[in-house]
Amino acid sequence: MTSQRTRNRFVERLIEKGISHPRLLEVMRCVPRHIFLDEALASRAYEDTALPIGFGQTISQPWVVAKMTQWLLNGQDDQAWSGFKKVLEIGTGSGYQTAILSLLSDQVFSLERIPLLSTKAQGVLEKLTLDNITFGISDGHWGWNDYAPFDAIISAAAPEQLPASLITQLKIGGRLIIPIGQQQQRLYGYQKTLTGLQETCLAEVLFVPMKSGVEV
Ligand code: SAH
Repeated sequence: MTSQRTRNRFVERLIEKGISHPRLLEVMRCVPRHIFLDEALASRAYEDTALPIGFGQTISQPWVVAKMTQWLLNGQDDQAWSGFKKVLEIGTGSGYQTAILSLLSDQVFSLERIPLLSTKAQGVLEKLTLDNITFGISDGHWGWNDYAPFDAIISAAAPEQLPASLITQLKIGGRLIIPIGQQQQRLYGYQKTLTGLQETCLAEVLFVPMKSGVEV
């Protein structure tokens, strides 16, 4: 149920659904998704589905994690591949996406507005000895100016409109991927250029809303 063979099959299914970046596939093959879930749901960890993680939130669907990460990676130069230098993640949640980013980056900065979710995720990521992650409790609408600029920004929560701070905190050449909208959401990719912003609409999606403020 949680064996390497199960994870190999899980990755085969991601390949069938269009995921092809070799380093990403390698990372998804090695990160154990079941340890990010409560025991009662662990047996479903390698299904391609979102699952509850408490507080009304969900661990993202693996294909969505892969698709979003691959889009960010496609902005990187393959020839000189050395991973992202700095990535900002909005919505730590279970920490699964954080683990994937951690193995593809020098440094990950991960924001969450629900302190208990962040604490739980930190415990799991420590067990995996991933130590290049800085956690923050705050409202992701504002990004994380202290550590900007970022090569890549990824949001697992949907704001009503694109938050201007996220664009400001992106490097020139950097990429941002984010769902936007309320009932009807779309996944957008943005690449910052010297002259402005290139926008790509990638899919119709359903993410949890990006809420304002932090939970106490
Ligand atoms: N990638 C995570 C997704 C969790 S769901 C995973 O796979 O587990 C999205 C997360 O975004 C939730 O944990 C939610 O609490 C968080 N979130 C919602 N609005 C936020 C905000 N304004 N700032 C930071 N995190 C936010």
